Amino acid sequence: MPEKVQSLRARIDDLNLELLALLSERARLAGEVGKLQTAAGASQYDPVREQQMLDMLVAANRGPFDDATVKSLFKQVFQASMQLSQRQEKRQYLVSRDQHPDDTIVEVGSVEVGSGRPPVLIAGPCAIESREQAFAVAERVASRGVPLFRGGAFKPRTDPYSFQGLGEEGLAIGREACDAHGLAFVSEIVSAQDVPMFEEYVDLLQVGARNMQNFHLLRAVGRSSKPVLLKRGLSATVEEWLMAAEYLMSEGNHAVILCERGIRTFERYTRNTLDVSAVALAKLESHLPVLVDVTHSGGRRDLLVALTKAGLAVGADGIMIEVHPNPAVALSDQKQQVDFETFDAYLDATLYHDSLSPQRLELSGFASRR
Ligand code: PEP
Ligand code: MN
Repeated sequence: MPEKVQSLRARIDDLNLELLALLSERARLAGEVGKLQTAAGASQYDPVREQQMLDMLVAANRGPFDDATVKSLFKQVFQASMQLSQRQEKRQYLVSRDQHPDDTIVEVGSVEVGSGRPPVLIAGPCAIESREQAFAVAERVASRGVPLFRGGAFKPRTDPYSFQGLGEEGLAIGREACDAHGLAFVSEIVSAQDVPMFEEYVDLLQVGARNMQNFHLLRAVGRSSKPVLLKRGLSATVEEWLMAAEYLMSEGNHAVILCERGIRTFERYTRNTLDVSAVALAKLESHLPVLVDVTHSGGRRDLLVALTKAGLAVGADGIMIEVHPNPAVALSDQKQQVDFETFDAYLDATLYHDSLSPQRLELSGFASRR
């Protein structure tokens, strides 16, 4: 290679490095401006300022690039800086996987929920209706190796005149039934002032779909030492769902389990539409465990097995299902709770692995993810 070409190339190499250093310094300064703008409540993207910079560059342009090329080169630089500061801003969320690359494992009583653990099963009646009913379900699900019992005591109902739950009495019954059968207890909390009461009875606080954006409740539950099961709102985007989890975490509670429970769509054959992509997405975007509530997702018993397989196939860390001794007379969700026989058939069909030995809960789980 002629010496002249070599020396020109060496000079170009030097200029590349200088350009890189200048671009990096520019990105750093733009990031600082972005932070100050965000702190002042202003948008990071300022089109007027961008136009001024382009006008200044075109006015200073003496070639050899034409004005359009100069503009397009610098627009790329502006865009890269903007994307960088947006990425850096997103990284600050506690819920984000960028903050916490490893999967979080949440302990509920002695049960671990999350990656690498057998997908967990939560089963129980929609509502705790009586001592007999709660004990019957607890006994049955425990005998099948299910580690977590869920029963509502405070039911957020669409119709104000329908059964609202037994309240604190329901929590006390649930606790007793779980203690009698070695189960961890999950129940839904609907009011911030009830946190101390719930802490006496439950192992896992459920925040229901209708309260996903009850920020006052989220903050109160976020200050609790109990883990939280956060259901996705009926029409919540994945981002809104994750921001709700951020509310909990920002108050110090990092033991958060997400739960997809179907979203409202135009479909009428199902009560809701199970959004499997949201399950996969939540696992990509966040480090939190994600469960699928197959009962409320479809609202149909004949879909429970298929929705369970779908949820596990996209990476769910567990499944929630409603079981009732006699669904026909249930005080809520009659159409979708399953009786004991149907529950057994469900366990068989989903290959739920049961050692039938409650002492060996670590063996509980779905035998196959496929
Ligand atoms: C429930 O889990 O019983 C319930 C009411 O579910 P959701 O909040 O998802 O509607
Ligand atoms: Mn229900």
